[in-house]
Amino acid sequence: MDRRDFLKSLLTMAALAPVSQLAAKAGADGDKSSDIPEGLQVTRRQYKNTAQTVPLLGFGCMRLPRVSPDDPKIDFPTVEKMVERAMKAGCNYFDTAYMYHGGESEKCMGRALKKYPRDSFYLTDKMPVWFAKSAADVERIFKEQLQRCQVDYFDFYLVHSLNAANWRQAKKFKVYEFLSKMKKEGKIRRLGFSFHDTPEVFKEIIHSQQWDFAQIQLNYLDWELYRSKEQYEIATQAGVPLVIMEPLRGGALASLSPDATAILKQAAPDASAASWAFRYVASLPNVLCVLSGMSLPEHLEDNIKTFSPLKPLTEPERDTLNAALLAYRKKLTVPCTACRYCMPCPVGVEIPRIFGIYNQYKVSGNKWQFNSHYNGIPEDSRADSCVNCGRCMKQCPQKIKIPDMLKQIAQEVK
Ligand code: SF4
Ligand code: SF4
Repeated sequence: MDRRDFLKSLLTMAALAPVSQLAAKAGADGDKSSDIPEGLQVTRRQYKNTAQTVPLLGFGCMRLPRVSPDDPKIDFPTVEKMVERAMKAGCNYFDTAYMYHGGESEKCMGRALKKYPRDSFYLTDKMPVWFAKSAADVERIFKEQLQRCQVDYFDFYLVHSLNAANWRQAKKFKVYEFLSKMKKEGKIRRLGFSFHDTPEVFKEIIHSQQWDFAQIQLNYLDWELYRSKEQYEIATQAGVPLVIMEPLRGGALASLSPDATAILKQAAPDASAASWAFRYVASLPNVLCVLSGMSLPEHLEDNIKTFSPLKPLTEPERDTLNAALLAYRKKLTVPCTACRYCMPCPVGVEIPRIFGIYNQYKVSGNKWQFNSHYNGIPEDSRADSCVNCGRCMKQCPQKIKIPDMLKQIAQEVK
């Protein structure tokens, strides 16, 4: 497979799902203050063969608007307005977690959603197993979450950020068993897990229990780079619907390099780079909901436009996105194509993943995002674990001086 074919394969996806465009239960009356045509509603997907529908656009509550860049406090009046706007557009899936905004996200969303009938929105929360010191702790955290959110039940609930280590912890404290009990008691409607590890670990977890859904990182850059494609296929074969996080890869795909942006603008002058990335993800049939962490009302408006209704990518549009991706990748510092011929490294260094994160940082300049993604790699798989054996270099078709590059990255990280 040559480079062009490889990149093209990143953009080739399975057949598109029939998309249900049922109106959301809440707020079908439109919003006169917005440039969104009145009554327009975000596309919804059906949950398996049930009558339940979920908006394809989910409101991520990890990066809520803040009072100012220097003030970590959440700007509640703005959140309240954004929630109202979202509800009117049928975007009624809200995704929070125990540690988002240091615990303030749960409280904020509980307060903002209080005025709406409980059955008019979906609230999703997550169990941070790494916080728990015992099974009793798991129970305590769950109760605290219900209180913070001012609800009696969660519509969707996940074991948060599972990887091999967190999965061991979850099993030790019988987290699945406790949450299943909560489900039987009606305090959880659908039970799933969010995930950050290899497809092998994903496969083990997804087949170990009866999950209602799973949440994975997926976008057009990570499709091959982080093996999101494999995770997507495993979940699809297991009949487990997916909620997608990081569709913009932490915002990076919303601000591509100038030449990549120019290609997209020429094809669709009014479409944002973010809208291309959302449409790529949302065109996948086993995707139930795509989360977007919206920090500004403008993000919400742009997203509503993209999803009302969602227009799946056409073949010519895939070619355009492919050309933009090629241009974008030329800017990347390490010419790694994520072919994985260099893997596995005998000491476990995650070579293509490290290069992917580093390249993203070089394009975006976003240090916070780099640290967040890099720290997600297990410590003994990071750049400084390389023992310079040279084995990987023999396999690399791009002739990258992998150990030297890893050394440079390790130094920059320090
Ligand atoms: S040189 Fe480093 S990264 Fe490459 S195989 Fe050896 S230990 Fe792994
Ligand atoms: S470092 Fe080379 S061999 Fe490894 S994934 Fe990247 S391009 Fe492929």
